[in-house]
Amino acid sequence: MNRKNSFQQKSPVAKVTVLWITAGLGCDGESVALTAATQPSIEEIVLGGLPGVPEVRFINPFYSYENADEYIDYLESAEKDELNPFILVIEGSIPNEQIKDEGYWAALGTDKKTGQPTTTCEWIDRLAPKAWAVMAVGTCATYGGIHAMEGNPTGAMGLPDYLGWDWKSKGEIPIVCVPGCPTQPDNITETLLYLLYQAAARAPLIPLDEALRPTWLFSETVHEGCDRGGYYEQGQFGDDYGSKYCIVKLGCWGPVVQCNVGKRGWIGGVGGCPNVGGICIGCTMPGFPDKFMPFMNQPPGSLLSAQAVMTYGKAIHALRRYTQASLNQEPAWRKRGEKLTSGYAAEIFKKS
Ligand code: SF4
Ligand code: SF4
Repeated sequence: MNRKNSFQQKSPVAKVTVLWITAGLGCDGESVALTAATQPSIEEIVLGGLPGVPEVRFINPFYSYENADEYIDYLESAEKDELNPFILVIEGSIPNEQIKDEGYWAALGTDKKTGQPTTTCEWIDRLAPKAWAVMAVGTCATYGGIHAMEGNPTGAMGLPDYLGWDWKSKGEIPIVCVPGCPTQPDNITETLLYLLYQAAARAPLIPLDEALRPTWLFSETVHEGCDRGGYYEQGQFGDDYGSKYCIVKLGCWGPVVQCNVGKRGWIGGVGGCPNVGGICIGCTMPGFPDKFMPFMNQPPGSLLSAQAVMTYGKAIHALRRYTQASLNQEPAWRKRGEKLTSGYAAEIFKKS
């Protein structure tokens, strides 16, 4: 089910604050990935290099000049409605602070009155209701990711599990999930750009799928855009790493995983897991990682499909080779006669 576009921002805003919190359980992978975005780059967004985009104030602890209390001041200002409108970006999974005996799982800064750590959950509780839009970036923040594996002690979860899958922001926008471990850099900036255009009343409500992912980025499978798809179709499968052929037998889940890195590449259009020999382990999917384990084993479903493809793929490949050999020959009628009769060559014959 696609969430339909019915809402349109009525009054365009001139300035938007992007308030990014990296204090979930995570590795700062999305903040690092952001430096590699080129379509658009974060610099283009922040420095006003794109037409029709509101002025952007970008606050991320990884990039900010301000740190410690100065950074926390931004969060407190947002809570007091002094940075409106703002887009709250959450990176890292959300621990369950209700299932511990003492201490805390994740926190950011200290409460100036009590001197006690302010938990990440507390910041989300305070800021999410005030945000014009909320983005979860990375598979940890969207669906829990590695930290949410079965048996983990923190009860880690993604933002939709924490706030609720039907939760909506002040701007009437569902949580926008941009998964990936880490997220493909341009997928982060392009989604942010879409929201900025929406804030400027230049775009309708962002279209999201049932897992709250932007539909134009996540509706196709890795396999549908993979450089190695031609080998798959001809039943040519690699048995070792380093093979140029399809690596489904080495554990690639690309045929059933919704992710665009096959087409989009990783940095500046280059790379993308299976394109460069890395199996797809399904990191953009809500079922990651548990449903894809053990990694490096051939996906059970592919045993049947790969066998079926082998049966006809080899025959098709042989027939194509036959046709290819014929196409590598000029047509029978195109050959030199007793003498050349056209153009410059004909002139030479006349003179000789
Ligand atoms: Fe499909 Fe993976 Fe093979 Fe690429 S490597 S063609 S995504 S199965
Ligand atoms: Fe993740 Fe697979 Fe996409 Fe690579 S190709 S980013 S492993 S979903």
